[in-house]
Amino acid sequence: MIKIKKFLVRPFPEKSESLLGYCCRLAIANFFDENELSNIIFGRTSDIRSRDQQKRKKLQTSLINLTDFENIGDLFNTREWHTEFKHLFEYKIQKVCISCLQEKPFIQALWDFKHYIVCHRHLEVLIDYCDICGDKYDCYSAVVQQCKNCGNKLRKREENLSHSLDSISNYLSEAEIFEKQNLSYTLTKLDLRLRKTVPFIHMLSESSTRKANRQRQQDPKTYVKLQAEADHLAMNKDDGAKALGNMIATSIDIQGISPAISSYSTYINDAKSDHFKTVLQESIEIHGSEFGNRQITVQFICKLWNMEEPKLLRALDQIDPNLRSGKKVVKCRDLSNKIGEIKNVYTILSNR
Ligand SMILES: [Zn+2]
Ligand SMILES: [Zn+2]
Repeated sequence: MIKIKKFLVRPFPEKSESLLGYCCRLAIANFFDENELSNIIFGRTSDIRSRDQQKRKKLQTSLINLTDFENIGDLFNTREWHTEFKHLFEYKIQKVCISCLQEKPFIQALWDFKHYIVCHRHLEVLIDYCDICGDKYDCYSAVVQQCKNCGNKLRKREENLSHSLDSISNYLSEAEIFEKQNLSYTLTKLDLRLRKTVPFIHMLSESSTRKANRQRQQDPKTYVKLQAEADHLAMNKDDGAKALGNMIATSIDIQGISPAISSYSTYINDAKSDHFKTVLQESIEIHGSEFGNRQITVQFICKLWNMEEPKLLRALDQIDPNLRSGKKVVKCRDLSNKIGEIKNVYTILSNR
């Protein structure tokens, strides 16, 4: 175990810095690596990134003792929020804005947010890999501004200039993640906003989350436009419903509507936000006639409009027995034309 009372070189922690980034800067300034820093604090390697509450606490108090900087306790640590908000962060790679690094070489906590993709100060797309050897950046490469694999200097890329700041990156940049008291509330709000946008990112990536993730990492400049478009659709319900309607109309097949929307079930079942569900309702109510004779199951209608199956079946038969002709399916066109009436009769039946 390496024993140290105080670090000889003690870089001043920046308010907007990530805790892990600070650890990296502190280690490098004192000619240690991350494992050695971990050894100094925990007596063993690789505990710096631990999500364990006690270890996080120990890391914080040890860093304060070893540097005398009380405000280290305020630095943002994604690990602290791993249980609740894991999906908000990028854990394995380090995105950076080269211009920010050139001004002051420290890791901004905002860069760790998965959907923060354009620097709000420089309008540059953040990058996370070396364009010479292809290696992914980590904290170390970022702080020393040099690729740890090939040794080339981190440099600005021409194609990284974005024309504008996308609204999600902007929203994140204004979130008060450095106000510790309200942090849980702030992250909940961020999470809800992203729950609205993510289904549309999925839709614009041809209904493939994997494709969206790959593009975010390999072609960030195109991804910026995609994220901006998704956010627009999420925030403007009518446009969102129309786009969703177009997607369903082009991917619908002979089996009906289910295969076209099967990959959206996580968003439909999202217990924390019913936003996507309501957009999909609107999409089927307004654009359902474009899906023609394709069928939608009674089961799915129940799920989407929160109805009970026996009552819905009765309501359908009361309006017109030909709507389902004894089966548990309805034509999209009929559903779209009659949805107002179906909801009314269903309510009357429910109130009896
Ligand atoms: Zn920047
Ligand atoms: Zn490299």
